[in-house]
Amino acid sequence: MSQQGYVAAPPYSQAQPGIGGYQGGFGAPPAQPLYGHYGGPPQGFNAPPAGMMKSPPTSPAGMPPSPVSSQYNPSVQQNGAHPQRYASPSAASPPYGQPSHSVYNSMASPAPPTQQLANQMSAMNLGSYAPGAMQSQPLPPTSSVAQQHFQTPAPAMGQPQMHPAPQAPHMASQNQMSPPQSPLTNMLASGQPTGGQSMAGPPMGGQSMAGPPMGGQSMAGPPMGGQSMTGPPMAGMNMPFPGPPPSGQGAFQQHGTGPAAPSGYPQQSVAGQFGGLMSGPQPGMSGGFPGTPGGLAGPPQKKLDPDSIPSTTQVIEDDKARLGGHVFSTNMRGQVPPLVTTDFTVQDQGNASPRFIRCTTYSLPCTAELAKQCQVPLASIIKPFAKLPKNETPLYVVNHGETGPIRCNRCKAYMCPYMQFIDGGRRYQCSFCNCVSEVPVFYFQHLDHMGRRVDFYERPELSQGSYEFVATLDYCKNNKPPNPPAYIFMIDVSYTNIKSGLVKLVCDELKSLLEKLPREDGAEASAIKVGFVTYNKVLHFYNVKSALAQPQMMVVSDVAEMFVPLLDGFLVNYQDSRAVIYNLLDQIPDMFADTNESETVFAPVIQAGVEAFKAAECSGKLFIFHSSMPTAEAPGKLKNRDDKKLVNTDKEKTLFQPQKGVYEQLSKDCVAQGCCVDLFLFPSQYLDLASMADVPSHTGGSVYKYNNFQVATDGEHFLRDLRKALQKSLGFDAVMRVRTSTGFRATDFFGAIYMNNTTDVEMAAVDCDKAVTVEFKHDDTLSEESGAFMQCALLYTTISGQRRLRIHNLSLNCTSQLSELYKCCETDSLINFFAKSAYRAILNQPVKNVRDILVNQTAHMLACYRKNCASPSAASQLILPDSMKVFPVYMNSLMKTAPLVGSTELSTDDRAHQRLSVMAMGVEDSQLQLYPRLIPLHNMDVGSEAVPDPVRCSEERLSDSGLFLLENGHSIFLWLGQASPPDLIQSLFNAPSLAHLQQEHMFTLPELDNPLSKKVRAIISELLEQRPNSMKLQIVRQRDKPEMLFRQFLVEDKGLHGGASYMDFLCYVHREIRQLLT
Ligand SMILES: [Zn+2]
Repeated sequence: MSQQGYVAAPPYSQAQPGIGGYQGGFGAPPAQPLYGHYGGPPQGFNAPPAGMMKSPPTSPAGMPPSPVSSQYNPSVQQNGAHPQRYASPSAASPPYGQPSHSVYNSMASPAPPTQQLANQMSAMNLGSYAPGAMQSQPLPPTSSVAQQHFQTPAPAMGQPQMHPAPQAPHMASQNQMSPPQSPLTNMLASGQPTGGQSMAGPPMGGQSMAGPPMGGQSMAGPPMGGQSMTGPPMAGMNMPFPGPPPSGQGAFQQHGTGPAAPSGYPQQSVAGQFGGLMSGPQPGMSGGFPGTPGGLAGPPQKKLDPDSIPSTTQVIEDDKARLGGHVFSTNMRGQVPPLVTTDFTVQDQGNASPRFIRCTTYSLPCTAELAKQCQVPLASIIKPFAKLPKNETPLYVVNHGETGPIRCNRCKAYMCPYMQFIDGGRRYQCSFCNCVSEVPVFYFQHLDHMGRRVDFYERPELSQGSYEFVATLDYCKNNKPPNPPAYIFMIDVSYTNIKSGLVKLVCDELKSLLEKLPREDGAEASAIKVGFVTYNKVLHFYNVKSALAQPQMMVVSDVAEMFVPLLDGFLVNYQDSRAVIYNLLDQIPDMFADTNESETVFAPVIQAGVEAFKAAECSGKLFIFHSSMPTAEAPGKLKNRDDKKLVNTDKEKTLFQPQKGVYEQLSKDCVAQGCCVDLFLFPSQYLDLASMADVPSHTGGSVYKYNNFQVATDGEHFLRDLRKALQKSLGFDAVMRVRTSTGFRATDFFGAIYMNNTTDVEMAAVDCDKAVTVEFKHDDTLSEESGAFMQCALLYTTISGQRRLRIHNLSLNCTSQLSELYKCCETDSLINFFAKSAYRAILNQPVKNVRDILVNQTAHMLACYRKNCASPSAASQLILPDSMKVFPVYMNSLMKTAPLVGSTELSTDDRAHQRLSVMAMGVEDSQLQLYPRLIPLHNMDVGSEAVPDPVRCSEERLSDSGLFLLENGHSIFLWLGQASPPDLIQSLFNAPSLAHLQQEHMFTLPELDNPLSKKVRAIISELLEQRPNSMKLQIVRQRDKPEMLFRQFLVEDKGLHGGASYMDFLCYVHREIRQLLT
């Protein structure tokens, strides 16, 4: 049975009628109408739920009488009564409703060059900025607004007009800006918080909350920090919406909140604290701009205060202040978790931890119509093997013996807290498909007076959101238990790698690293087997059987028909063969020391790994250390096809597309065998990364890249990556299925995955940092009362070779109120989805189209909010949903990333690399990637343990006499202001001044025995420890050439390679919104 309507249809492809102004010209298929998800005719009213795709029973016997709407309640009640495992940290609760006013940073903010604004403005092509232009560009319902504007700046918008006064670098003067229509000035006007005279209407915070009640069950419960466990679990969910929270704690007071504003939205991220863009008191703004109700601009010379636009660092700090250190109990449906940047503890009480699943919104629109109207993507980001902090309980493992896990007869969903037991406990109704199944005799249990099984607490699958089942042989290949996985180290020993010292570095490191292979908790040694291959134009396999005195080499030169020349002795237990392996690792660098071979093969190397796993009947991972484009005659041979002339043309997409054929087949073979590929690249020039990374990016692998590798400056950086890669916890040979309750279903998947059909997500391996982003679509109406459920089931092989099922369940609210939907959005998840969908889209269409679509959708989402959720107010006010108030800065940052920016100055391989690494990212990593942390170091308390609070990523926040650390998970910089105090430089570098710093100072900090040096190095080590990848420290001085590398990460500023500043982007989006609303 195939699922109608899914048909792989990547985003950004079809123009969708019915979404005024949001279509146009997206390339041809493979098409996935990003905006058209809900645009098509409602489909699938008769369609089976997603889970039915596999083996739907033909017997109607299991059909339930009718959907039961209250199925969730019992389990929630049960969950609520779950014993508390964590102390409720109420004493330490930060005060609610007290936004910090101290955070607006008052760093010296040297004005940017006056030319900058003009440049930014012109870069934005604010074609219709002037009123005339706006009138002359009515919004045609069938054309793409933004595209038009970007392409055809109206003549009215002349650069001279926009040229700011010298003393007002961020504020165009009044006559230049045509006050009533000017988004910039009007933003200010509306953002004017303290000047009472200027506020027409309530501030945004209040407006955003003023929507009608939404599904009484939703949010009136107690706040999420541990306190929620004290309240009656489910009762809260039925409270009338505007009702007071059970305790004062939940009342989340807002500035300027109107009387209609409900309290008790514990999950709502910083509702109103920031005041929204335009509302709450903002210190930085006070007196800053005397706006007037009509949005009239103030005196021309007034500077537009950058603090007046929503700040990511502020949002992050507010969330930390509100929820940091709290316990987040997952006992309620549709709870919005703390931000990924907040440190909190999760208590699983029936829904999966946000570490495993995050959503773009926790309140799904009830209908496809509503979803289409707001264009907020409905997606989950699932990180099935996410690391749990030590103070959280690891997943329980359930073993039903030979019977295996209990599953719904029809949709095959696994037993979970959402199943409802009926008929005295003899049968249960599936909450995904409503089918009623018999409870197997061995599993029978009586129900208590609440309809809950009396063994509720003893069974993780009834009370927990996440748990594992031991899988039976039915879940194993060929009905045989799997062998333990294997790791094969495959080292390119061509001239480049020998000469650079890489081969020796790898071999030396492996000796100690192999001692640290991942092992099962409590196991004495790792069960993972290891094998070794070296290669250039030919492959060398090594027999390292423990009985041998010396390793033996076997050469395979027929690379076209790859086979493994030895079985016994190739994949061995490290403990047994340690001596022979040491011997081998010592010999390898010497064996090839005099090599002149510069050509390599690549695809046959991966093929050899697959064949070895096949022969050993196991899954595993290849660690390949490779230097150059594989040009030797062999399958998968590549040729240089880099062509910067293609940038910004319709053919730019080919730069991101892998060369097909061999690698496509290889990915398929790898996934079928459970062979994951981690690729470490050491290129000195273009090597067609898009093709070389094709297999890793379809097998759950990672690609690491070290340009112009030198042991002295990059060695440690690479080794940190290798250590992290080798020790990651992970599962092998995995298949993931996401089941949903009726009314919606998973339609698209993004990640380092392979899809052989429309429902099974295959991953040769999946590690703790890999996430799959899943998009959902309606196929029927969702019920506010019963909510929506999803169950992610991952079948995999553990590191010791046990077959298991890891189950993550999540329940969401459903709403017919857009205000509720927006309130439950999560910006960090939204941007993860947008990044992945945009990065996939550029495989099929010009990056410019993709950028235009991103802008359009941003404007549309925000316009829909304004139109449907905010109280009436002057059109000139920019009103943003509280949950999305920093969404524009992320979106703008995304559009400036290397893959999307379309600059010939960027390396094609680097762009491809970034594209692929983001595709597999979870929410934490994409958040950091798109909004780096900029940490001031010059004024921190060196005695404190804490890392200083980051400041906004803008040049304005730097100061000539400052020291800053910037990191985004992939790069880390120490920036030194040109007037850095000599004593700080002395403390850090043992040099009298900046001028004394030599090149060798620029990649490492000396270990000096003084508080500042220790503190800075401690911060850097901590960051390196936390991130999935290593980062290479780069030390840059203000105004030195390498500073450019650093500046590209100041994402609030105009992009180095193109792209608007945050301020300009916000103005632009505001104007788009206003056009949409007229
Ligand atoms: Zn079912």
